Amino acid sequence: MAAITMKNIVKRYGDGFPAVQEVSLDVRDGEFMILVGPSGCGKSTLLRMIVGLEDITSGEMLIGGKVVNKVAPRERNLSMVFQNYALYPHLTVFENIAFPLRLAKTPNEEVNRRVKETAELLELTEHLDRKPSHLSGGQRQRVAMGRAIVREADAFLFDEPLSNLDAKLRGQMRTEISRLQRRLGVTTVYVTHDQTEAMTLGDRVAVLRKGVLQQVGSPRALYEEPVNLFVAGFIGSPSMNFLPASVDGSFLETPLGRFEVQDERKLAAVGDRDVVLVGIRPEHFEDASLVGDEKKSQGSIIRARVDVTEWLGNEQYAYVPYEAPADLAAQLRDLSRELDSDQLRTQAVVSLDAASTITPGREAELWIDTKRLHLFDPATSDNLT
Ligand code: ATP
Repeated sequence: MAAITMKNIVKRYGDGFPAVQEVSLDVRDGEFMILVGPSGCGKSTLLRMIVGLEDITSGEMLIGGKVVNKVAPRERNLSMVFQNYALYPHLTVFENIAFPLRLAKTPNEEVNRRVKETAELLELTEHLDRKPSHLSGGQRQRVAMGRAIVREADAFLFDEPLSNLDAKLRGQMRTEISRLQRRLGVTTVYVTHDQTEAMTLGDRVAVLRKGVLQQVGSPRALYEEPVNLFVAGFIGSPSMNFLPASVDGSFLETPLGRFEVQDERKLAAVGDRDVVLVGIRPEHFEDASLVGDEKKSQGSIIRARVDVTEWLGNEQYAYVPYEAPADLAAQLRDLSRELDSDQLRTQAVVSLDAASTITPGREAELWIDTKRLHLFDPATSDNLT
């Protein structure tokens, strides 16, 4: 087993914009690290540099404390599971799993033992004589994983292994991968663009954007303390609402109404700024009529007109359209380099208890958990709170 250390890693393809820029990241021995970010953020490139499939333009890559920049992929003793977990259709499950051992000219007896152990671990024992075409999607995925783990590599690397599966199977495989990783305790780096996978699988998550590492932390830390607008908007589903707001003492004037922030620390962070972006997660709103008095006093209430509700059984989403005052919107656009129209939505998404009877078209009172809101500097996109 081995830790993986990246020091100021840069990757440039040709003379273009660097695909990876000065990334420094420590994956601890035995840790499950997720690399997540939107398409093109450089996560696959980073993974390919760990494995050795891509040259490193500058910086150092260490595996188990040893610099591997110039070490050939097959000498790194890493095992990779790709998006297209192509199995050999003409080979049995046994031979598919045995493949890397055969390549390494492992003696037959050892092949037998290791394949059987792996099959047991993945509950594939009764399928060992079958061909991949006779397996379900999930079983095929497990064979692909078997092929990766049979080698007893120092680390596992996954490149979006579940993206070709349907939603239900993806959920199942997610728990299986998680269980397997914990059982084996092998250092794992897992690339995905799916924030749910990132939040549920990893010990820690590294969020990338345009080749730049934004934040590394536990799923909970990313959710509760995102460092900037990008991480705040990327982590959490439905994503955080960002409302432009002018600051008036301890009050915020937002397109959803005026409310007080009863949190000295947050207010102090605002400093002398006139305008901020308020980040409120959908789940930090509630139908005020369902909130007890004590909790009510710890937040603020606004009046809002919901125009659409979606009932999901265990909760419901309500959409509250709004329009930012033109001067505020213009002021923000001037201040912010990062802000795109998507972040300045014209509707807030609110997650309500399934018992809420708020109906579309009528005014209702919404409670906001103001202790959990975030305030962002529109000029830098940094989280001030
Ligand atoms: P996706 O989820 O879409 O695979 P990603 O986050 O994994 O995206 P990369 O595939 O690492 O991103 O790509 C990062 C950037 O580098 C992109 O702008 C991409 O176009 C560019 N890139 C990737 N591979 C090459 C290549 N072989 N030659 C030139 N540019 C490349």
